[in-house]
Amino acid sequence: ESQLNPNYSFENFLEGDSNRLARSAGLAVAAKPGGTSFNPLLIFGGVGLGKTHLAHAIGVDIKDKYPEKTVLYISAEKFTQQYIDSVKKNNRNDFIHFYQIIDVLIIDDVQFLSGKSGTQDVFFHIFNHLHQNGKQVILTSDKAPVDMQDIEQRLLSRFKWGLSAELQHPDFETRVSILKNKLYRDGVEMPDEIVDYVAKNIKTNVRELEGAIISLIAQSSFNRKEITLDLAKQIVEKFVKNTKREVSIDYIQKVVSDYFQMDVDTLQSKTRKRHIVQARQLAMFFAKKMTKASLASIGSQIGKRDHATVLHACKTVDNLSSTDKQFRKYVEDIAKKLSV
Ligand code: ADP
Ligand code: MG
Repeated sequence: ESQLNPNYSFENFLEGDSNRLARSAGLAVAAKPGGTSFNPLLIFGGVGLGKTHLAHAIGVDIKDKYPEKTVLYISAEKFTQQYIDSVKKNNRNDFIHFYQIIDVLIIDDVQFLSGKSGTQDVFFHIFNHLHQNGKQVILTSDKAPVDMQDIEQRLLSRFKWGLSAELQHPDFETRVSILKNKLYRDGVEMPDEIVDYVAKNIKTNVRELEGAIISLIAQSSFNRKEITLDLAKQIVEKFVKNTKREVSIDYIQKVVSDYFQMDVDTLQSKTRKRHIVQARQLAMFFAKKMTKASLASIGSQIGKRDHATVLHACKTVDNLSSTDKQFRKYVEDIAKKLSV
């Protein structure tokens, strides 16, 4: 059993600027599994942007072109569970052997392996064996390798061997074509004006975009009402309300510097004065916690620092807030000000 979902095909994965690189890398891998330099192929991006879909599409396409190849899709969570079970049942070697004879291994959401050193260790050995034998490995993650935490260095360096391709937020045109494709497949007709309205207002991710259109169709058929722009407005409004507003890094810097009665320029400055350094570290900590921005992007927005500085800041804040009462109070106060 390959565990692949045939509906998650390339055909149904609409192309746009946001996914062009990842999609074409996926097609290249599917044409020559294990035979390109994209090994492993790591697809990363935020929630609902198509990582699972694209990972399946590659597997489905390979199965189509090379029926004799064994392709396996598994979530990192299930992989971990299987590994733990194998240890309990004393058949760890069978577990390893099972994975070492696969031609194409797809592991979804590898960020789940964070902090799980036993599973990382066994995966390291499986990975090496597959890679040395020219087998294809495909991984997905919610972060780029440089931003992954609590993953062993030797595994991270393997992740970087091949290609890391990002799935970004789709632009308006891509959102429209995704919606139109979905409507077409479901045999539902909807005026362009309404499709455009939904695509224009739901920007979070593809899963929510689809969710809004599904609930629109359901509402109209349930109430035997036509799909009108008014109905679309009601539904979109609900979706937008339910999506938590993400605070911006600018806003976080403003709140933190207000709290310490300094201005944002001071917070960003190169000074080593302790209270300013701490303010900057707190801003970085909250940016990591409350936004989806990468460490590198946080660093560049908070006084042009690099990702290592941001990582260090996050660790320092973690440490200080458990050892220093006054500092913990800062963290709590700022958290309150930032909560909306
Ligand atoms: P992720 O794994 O990144 O959280 P999924 O792969 O589960 O996201 O995608 C969420 C939903 O959006 C799925 O139903 C998927 O089919 C759809 N989707 C995502 N990207 C596209 C795309 N480019 N074209 C068509 N559907 C897409
Ligand atoms: Mg997924």
